[in-house]
Amino acid sequence: LLEMNHVRKSFNSQEVLKDISLSVKEGEIVSIIGPSGSGKSTLLRCATMLEQMDGGELIYLKEKAAWNEADGVSTYADKETLKKIQKHYGLVFQNFHLFPHMSVLQNIMDAPLHVQKRNKEEVHEEAMKLLKKMGLEDKAKAYPCQLSGGQSQRVAIARALALNPKILFFDEPTSALDPELTGEVLKVIRSLADLQITMVIVTHEMAFARDISDRVIFMADGIIVEEGTPEEVFSSSNVRTQSFLGRYG
Ligand code: ATP
Ligand code: MG
Repeated sequence: LLEMNHVRKSFNSQEVLKDISLSVKEGEIVSIIGPSGSGKSTLLRCATMLEQMDGGELIYLKEKAAWNEADGVSTYADKETLKKIQKHYGLVFQNFHLFPHMSVLQNIMDAPLHVQKRNKEEVHEEAMKLLKKMGLEDKAKAYPCQLSGGQSQRVAIARALALNPKILFFDEPTSALDPELTGEVLKVIRSLADLQITMVIVTHEMAFARDISDRVIFMADGIIVEEGTPEEVFSSSNVRTQSFLGRYG
């Protein structure tokens, strides 16, 4: 579904991603763990083209988005292809980014209506179904300022799902939440796993990563140090992996 080959990215003189290669198969749940500053968010931002990579290949379902030119400049695909590719993924950040002046329902319906130009009744029906799935039916008319952090994040997840992405990226979806609200968001993500939605999750919740993932990627200093099943990575004898995991008990 997604392939990244030899992706490189620097900010000024700092190399943040050094030759990263990974692939995500349909239906797979991949967690990315690693110390702060190791490049996890940058990797997601490159995968979703919020950040332009310096080199390497980015391929969604055989559609090539970027590649490494001879002169080392990555060139993105033509507009048509980019549009096609952007339909494949959804993104959920740490800080929700809901539109404050729109109700919960409007937040969810906005992109399907105005970007995808879909039928209003159909979008409405689907949005209500999503809210139900998130346990937020009674919040449809509420505004973001009236929601708890956990509720906001569940709305953000519903909004991403409303676009029917083939792959959903999460960047530390619970790190801005109190522990008691973290649980409700993790539960929702878990329920998506049961629906076999492909997911890439950057998280500091080790127990969750271990539990939910088909594969875990451990990053440090801009490289993938290790990847494997949760069992493999969490019982790894690699010194860097052990030292990182040790900090989480
Ligand atoms: P965390 O766990 O704290 O979220 P991370 O693994 O997501 O960390 P990144 O946010 O990808 O790390 O950052 C990797 C490095 O790149 C950091 O040293 C950061 O300072 C640098 N960096 C990220 N974005 C930019 C930017 N827009 N401009 C300059 N430097 C940046
Ligand atoms: Mg980050």
